[in-house]
Amino acid sequence: MPNKIYLIDVTNRDGVQTAKLGLSKLEKTMINLYLNELGIFQSEFGFPTTRHEIYYLKANLELAEMGVLKPLRLGGWIRAIPEDVEVTFRNVPEIKHLNLSISTSDQMINGKFQGRKTRDDVIREMTEAVDAARACGAETIGVNAEDASRTDIKFLSEFGLAAKEHGADRLRYCDTLGYDNPFTIYDSARILAEKVGLPIELHCHDDLGMAVANSISGAMGVIDGGQDAYINTTINGIGERAGNADLTAIVLAAKKSKDVEKRYDLGGTIKLKLASKISKFASYAFDVPIPINQPGVGANAFAHASGIHADGVLKDPGNYELYSYEELGRGDPIKVETGREIIAGQYSGISGFGHVMGKLEVTFKNREEANEILELVRYANVEAHKPLVEDELKFIAKYPQIAKKLLTMTPLE
Ligand SMILES: [Zn+2]
Repeated sequence: MPNKIYLIDVTNRDGVQTAKLGLSKLEKTMINLYLNELGIFQSEFGFPTTRHEIYYLKANLELAEMGVLKPLRLGGWIRAIPEDVEVTFRNVPEIKHLNLSISTSDQMINGKFQGRKTRDDVIREMTEAVDAARACGAETIGVNAEDASRTDIKFLSEFGLAAKEHGADRLRYCDTLGYDNPFTIYDSARILAEKVGLPIELHCHDDLGMAVANSISGAMGVIDGGQDAYINTTINGIGERAGNADLTAIVLAAKKSKDVEKRYDLGGTIKLKLASKISKFASYAFDVPIPINQPGVGANAFAHASGIHADGVLKDPGNYELYSYEELGRGDPIKVETGREIIAGQYSGISGFGHVMGKLEVTFKNREEANEILELVRYANVEAHKPLVEDELKFIAKYPQIAKKLLTMTPLE
């Protein structure tokens, strides 16, 4: 089988780590559902060592068990230390996929660990964590080299080989500061694929505006080095500082960029038609507008103003467009009006709620059931601080027990 490119979306991990931004647990769940529908390989769905994530993580693993969140893989992110592995399996014993992260560059070893750790310690802690995760029943283990792009490539290969010896399934190359360029990341990724012999993940940040280009180029290096490549994305490129590689732009680049698709296959079936919807939902949930010039989904992505361009595109869209707006599903609105009625208090009682849900073709067996769903909707509104979208209302009505778990939080006593 020829090697392929797979996508691991990290919106629910790197995205929510973004300063000043966050998502409710229901919103995180909706993102997992949309990623599953879109055909993404894996969602890095959260932090199993964080107490307030526990109910959410368990509820999503339950959805996976029920076949609702399938075939999407749900992967947790933790530090590559045995203590984090222990806490993870105490909190969420059902978890199957993990990425274990540790800094590998001398900059971080000296600057962050301040002489408390050596390169040998980094490898020792990582391998102990991998062993512990395996012993606890983890099915797949990715090992993340944080600040890989500023790490001596020889040491990085050693680190990767040690991970492989201990049974890790993938190595994540993190360009944590967005320091790489398409040429340097191609070389590093190819060397790692060849020397370590594991599938490589590309985790790129956009500090120099090259996250998408670097991800694609890195993936080419991995495949030319004889391994599968896994690109880390976030919806709308949301992530720490300047953000991560944008999901839609990555899919477009893999499919539409000059000669890429001829040699590098995107694995699975990606339903690009959902791109616009998922982008709008994330924008609404994060409360961050989509830039008008965002590839594919921005308001201006298909706007032609100059006389020559407008004339050209009317004669044949291919004159000035690489892809069509229909391909991205533009035009499917995310409606919020029903939620707005509820949050604004204009909803006038259970019969009104029944009417709102009726418009969504959701009916209730009896008044009791309607009351129960309404109560959950109220709680979800409180947590999200905004009206729910139709898909959220439908989700709560269909899976009330799961919704209840998502809305449950028990702080330390
Ligand atoms: Zn990151």
